[in-house]
Amino acid sequence: MNHHYENTADECIVICNICNVKVPNTINNRDEHSYGVRHETEYDNLLLINKMKMINDTLYCHVCNLTMYNTDDLNHINDVNHRYEIEKLKIHPHMEKKNGNKLECRVCEVVISSKDHCVSEHVEGNNHTINYSNLLEDNMIKNIGKRVFCELCRRFVKAVKVIDHVLMDEDHIDRYICSLKQNPEPLHYHMCYSSDPKIVICKVCDKSITCTVINNHISSMIHLQKFKTTLAFNKMRKTRSKKKYYCDICHVYVPNKNELEHINGKNHAESIKVMIMKRMVNDLSENNIYSSDDEYDEEDGTEYSWDDDEEDSTEYTRDDDDEEDDTEYTRDDDDEEDDTEYSWDDDEEDDTEYRDDYRYDNNYNY
Ligand SMILES: [Zn+2]
Ligand SMILES: [Zn+2]
Ligand SMILES: [Zn+2]
Ligand SMILES: [Zn+2]
Ligand SMILES: [Zn+2]
Ligand SMILES: [Zn+2]
Repeated sequence: MNHHYENTADECIVICNICNVKVPNTINNRDEHSYGVRHETEYDNLLLINKMKMINDTLYCHVCNLTMYNTDDLNHINDVNHRYEIEKLKIHPHMEKKNGNKLECRVCEVVISSKDHCVSEHVEGNNHTINYSNLLEDNMIKNIGKRVFCELCRRFVKAVKVIDHVLMDEDHIDRYICSLKQNPEPLHYHMCYSSDPKIVICKVCDKSITCTVINNHISSMIHLQKFKTTLAFNKMRKTRSKKKYYCDICHVYVPNKNELEHINGKNHAESIKVMIMKRMVNDLSENNIYSSDDEYDEEDGTEYSWDDDEEDSTEYTRDDDDEEDDTEYTRDDDDEEDDTEYSWDDDEEDDTEYRDDYRYDNNYNY
């Protein structure tokens, strides 16, 4: 194969581009090398890792689905699109490349190291297995023996393409939306619609989510943690009876599923402003920085009375339930719970994601 040889400055010597060795530039020497064991082994390996196969006098690339002349082998192997497809094959089909040596699992929305053992540990783990089978179920995709069948599209899908099918196949997503219309269920209250029917916005994470994976997102660690952080930052906590939330900033009860509305509402924003102002005035007049806990409890003792609450009667209606909450609830318990549950250095990723909130927390000196 003459096209494997490249001339050098010395016209008596050529380089074999397959084996990367110098060969004397004579017909005999070149033939000897080309039909030698070394060259043939190198060439077979090269075709193998590039998913290419010799068929008579032509070459077939399985990744690009292309047939070409033998002499185009190196051109194709070095082709940008072919390289891209080959690179993609090297990572697990559920994974997507992220910055650095990180991968994101498209099923679990979790970022992991790209090291092989981390990937296999993750995809073979319980969480991933459950998330993946939930995703299949939501999308009406069934394993039939070794094959995968999409009941929405009424066709088989390659196992390695299932995630692409769910996240990117426009026809599948359209059919999914149609199936939802036949069986209408309200959109989860953490989500809102966008201008694109295929995309919803998570109000907690402020992130676009393909509608086919809403449930997976809602149960993902990243979402659950962000939700917790949002509540903690806004001093909202579940009452003992778990029937509503209590806002420690506005001193009002908020019905379940209204917590995001409350956090984003005008009253709550006002309360935060007032609280910061108060704190600044206190800091100036007393000119000392006391421990946040002390102040917190003190404030609580004086202001946290039923009379005050009555002023906020728009959101809070007193009933037996609330009184029960009040007696059952002890602040220390809850604060302790907060401390253990929101440790900031749990995870490197979280750190970057929530750093802003954390900084606020320090400034406000809760
Ligand atoms: Zn060679
Ligand atoms: Zn190719
Ligand atoms: Zn996963
Ligand atoms: Zn489908
Ligand atoms: Zn979210
Ligand atoms: Zn509030």
